[in-house]
Amino acid sequence: MNLDTPVTDLDWIPAARRRALERIGISTLGALLTHYPRRYEDRTRFERFPSSEGTAPVCLCGVVRKVQVRRVRGGQKMLDAVLEEEGAHALSPRLLLRWFNAHWVERMLAEGLRIVVYGRLKCSGTNLVLAHPEFEVLDEDAGPGVHHGRITPVHPATEGLTPKMVRSLVWDGLQSLTPEAVPTRLPDALAEGPRCEALRQIHFPESWEALAKARRHLVLEEFLGLQLRVVSRRENGRQEAGGRHCGPGELMERLHGSLPFALTGAQLRAIGEIRADMAAPHPMNRLLHGDVGSGKTLVALSAMLLAVEAGFSAALMAPTQILAEQHYLQFRRLLEPLGVGVALRTGTRREEAGPLPLFGGAAAMEGPQIYVGTHALLYEPAGLGRLGLAVIDEQHKFGVLQRARLREQGSEAGPDVLVMTATPIPRTLTMTVYGDLEVSVLDELPANRGRVVTGVRPAAKLPEAVVFLREQLGQGRQVYIVYPLVEESEKLEAKAAVGEFERWKKLLDPWKCELLHGRVVPEEKEAVMARFRAGQTQVLVATTVIEVGIDVPNATVMLVENAERFGLAQLHQLRGRIGRGSHKGYCVLLCSEKADGPALEKLQVLAQTQNGFEIAEADLRLRGPGDLLGTAQSGAAPLKLGCILGDAELMGLARREAQRILSSDPGLDRPENRGLRGFLEGSGEAVLAGVS
Ligand code: ADP
Ligand code: MG
Repeated sequence: MNLDTPVTDLDWIPAARRRALERIGISTLGALLTHYPRRYEDRTRFERFPSSEGTAPVCLCGVVRKVQVRRVRGGQKMLDAVLEEEGAHALSPRLLLRWFNAHWVERMLAEGLRIVVYGRLKCSGTNLVLAHPEFEVLDEDAGPGVHHGRITPVHPATEGLTPKMVRSLVWDGLQSLTPEAVPTRLPDALAEGPRCEALRQIHFPESWEALAKARRHLVLEEFLGLQLRVVSRRENGRQEAGGRHCGPGELMERLHGSLPFALTGAQLRAIGEIRADMAAPHPMNRLLHGDVGSGKTLVALSAMLLAVEAGFSAALMAPTQILAEQHYLQFRRLLEPLGVGVALRTGTRREEAGPLPLFGGAAAMEGPQIYVGTHALLYEPAGLGRLGLAVIDEQHKFGVLQRARLREQGSEAGPDVLVMTATPIPRTLTMTVYGDLEVSVLDELPANRGRVVTGVRPAAKLPEAVVFLREQLGQGRQVYIVYPLVEESEKLEAKAAVGEFERWKKLLDPWKCELLHGRVVPEEKEAVMARFRAGQTQVLVATTVIEVGIDVPNATVMLVENAERFGLAQLHQLRGRIGRGSHKGYCVLLCSEKADGPALEKLQVLAQTQNGFEIAEADLRLRGPGDLLGTAQSGAAPLKLGCILGDAELMGLARREAQRILSSDPGLDRPENRGLRGFLEGSGEAVLAGVS
């Protein structure tokens, strides 16, 4: 019996439960034992029943008296059960347990049963009520030491598999293991005790201290696995042979000279770093990280010119058609005077236009070119010339796999890769998610940037907002109206957009409004954008399609409806569309009446700061890293136990350890390091580390 033993070989698990386990992705004993508890209840000794409500959840044990089911308004079925403290007397407090439409509870509860409940107490009239509490029936004979009389784990459960069942399975699983079957993988310096013991204690801790120690062990192991992979990926990248793709820089100088402004110090520094990478004989793998409006595009274009000058082509990939076309227009304007050809390539356009139309003399030009397109560029069969540099704009819509695919393309040794993102990533995350990339940061905004004033207002203030918008339009400014995307259905979304649009047209008459959402066909989208860019329309009513990258300096006002439905980071991205020219920007965040206190409070962060990093930290704290990690596609499985934010210190420790180990033993050949190989290979054992 070891951690790789399939669940199907564990004959002490009934077949039905095995199937339920498989439904939640547990197919080996190791997976079962890393199905960590979501919380713990102290059932060593139960508290007396409280006599008032409180904010923290309580865990109590009592005896069920009276169970009553009633029909209430709206046809709902309400189940009330009285819970009495054991050995209670007439005056001791009783609790009311209450459920709506919970037939399964009806089947399970009966008078006289001893149960453990967990939930938040609320006053309702003269009663103390626990609404929809979690509960578990205690059987006196089977149980002490596993289900009660101890700090008891509560595992994530699923249909047909209650926390109690999971607890039993995990208990039996642990009994079946010998310490030899669970070799310790953490280096001695970090491990305080064997891994087998950590696994036992994380599920069935003998004390809170033992639990903390076990958790530390397992989190460190998880992080070490992650960091070993990240660090080795980075080292391998550094040692790989790659072409040099860097010209002398004359073209780039000419580009810079033609601009009506000087580059910021941060831009120049980033270009310098990129240039050094491109000139070196190994592939560049660099992340250009800069807040919205920091001028990443010009840095990219400079790098592209370096490649062109060295006789290679360069490609820029944008996440959307609109952005691709915007970059294309801008590049044409800037590059035609330099005699560099630019081609636009997007999936849709080509389909409709037949053979690709080449622009700006590109057709006449042999050799190096600049290509701008969407992801479709990735699937271009050798159509990008001798690709020396690939730039990926707005990385958070672009995964590791796609990056890898790019690297396989192009010139013999693979192109240099530059990834650009505006997603403000806190340091702990950068280390994890982008740990295999070198990072350049644009930490300086161009000097002429107008400040953006942000206000959070209830929807009732709409009329005042309209007056303000009209005032700004009267001064020649342009306006974005944004409302939340309805994710479930593009159709619905489009419909809502159309409704909104009609309303805004009336509100802002006679100014010209146009509509932009995901369902608008690409040609039409581009036409709408072109008219807005040219100032022929003054108002753009849009979904979040305008979230990334759109650049219209005269559009300085943004109104966001139902702002509470957006995440902070997303609102920050949206807001980045304004305040790009020299005029002051205004962002109005309207909240629906339904929005509650916390939602409004959350939005205040945006009114208080324009610093993307502060906003990202706040966002991370409010929502957890799930989103960021998910969309950033680190390539690693989600962490099972560790918390990137809360365990930042352990992550740093794991990082240093990974670097120490790999720098002295890159192949993990030493006997004491062999056990770590599983982390790199992603073998079954690595599942334990969360990096399968
Ligand atoms: P982002 O980093 O959000 O992609 P962009 O590259 O779109 O930002 O740049 C935003 C705007 O700032 C563009 O209109 C660009 O021309 C302008 N810009 C870029 N660099 C500078 C600079 N050094 N000084 C002034 N304006 C700049
Ligand atoms: Mg951009």
